[in-house]
Amino acid sequence: GSLPGWDDVDALVSATYDRLRDDRDGTVADYIPKLAAAEPDQFGIAVADVAGGTHDVGDAWAPFTIQSISKAFVYALVAEVLGHEVVGERIGVNNTGLPFDSVVAIELNDGHPMNPMVNAGAIATTALLPGASPDEKWSRLVAALSAFAGHRLSIDEQVYASESASNDRNRALGQLLRSYGRLDADPAETVDLYTRQCALLVSAHDLAVMGATLADGGVNPVSGEQVVSPEVCRDTLAVLAASGLYEHSGEWLFEIGVPGKSGVSGGIVAIAPGKGAIGAFSPRLDEAGNSVRGQRAAAQLSRALGLNVFASR
Ligand code: GLN
Repeated sequence: GSLPGWDDVDALVSATYDRLRDDRDGTVADYIPKLAAAEPDQFGIAVADVAGGTHDVGDAWAPFTIQSISKAFVYALVAEVLGHEVVGERIGVNNTGLPFDSVVAIELNDGHPMNPMVNAGAIATTALLPGASPDEKWSRLVAALSAFAGHRLSIDEQVYASESASNDRNRALGQLLRSYGRLDADPAETVDLYTRQCALLVSAHDLAVMGATLADGGVNPVSGEQVVSPEVCRDTLAVLAASGLYEHSGEWLFEIGVPGKSGVSGGIVAIAPGKGAIGAFSPRLDEAGNSVRGQRAAAQLSRALGLNVFASR
């Protein structure tokens, strides 16, 4: 089936927003100094359907840095260029069962990054971007993520600077991958590119459109542009189902029933293949680094809109 009718979706998005308006659970990320300064009460929800319709409520247009949600779309770009076999083998598709910045996960797996949704796997994915120089890779990356969103994305220079000055752990992950022969590109340059991709600015509305593009076989339903192939969407969504919410991916799938991805600035996207996507933004996080209110909004809307891919009726 498809989504309920236009007015029904609008009413359900508003009702979800109203129910969660006073939810203050969780804490804002502070390991990136600039993120600690975020206004914690911000809350926006957006839904985009594969016919190009969008619904926005609250702070649906408020800008925030995409952070780990970029991993899904950079993976799609790299998979588009290198194909199913290469990314499947080099990056992996299994959940680590460990936090997104885990060093132990690499050590336990012979230096294999495991999956593209944890930092190690995302750094290894960014290293595979096409381009002869970091600038060329960056251009390809920004062009692809912008095509997913349907407009030119820009970078939050302050968040980029703040994370660059405090990302010793990601630099360590890059070096460790390199020591295992799992990174062909320069680790410092690659981590810098990864840090930049995480600082791209989006809104909950953008996330809904970007997710709806993956739900729509790679066609941005608003702009009409074919951004990636249907095969890449299928593979990206499978990876998100397994690892999009890190070590909480099982709980997410159990409660929400569609592939999703979160980021530490409080963004979250839930993607219903063939139907559309929910984008949400609320900076307070749980202990795994996932937006608390964003997850609740996705759960309520997934039920109300009948999105669960495991439901037979
Ligand atoms: N830029 C962040 C980091 O590398 C992204 C992490 C996240 O959103 N979970 O730590």
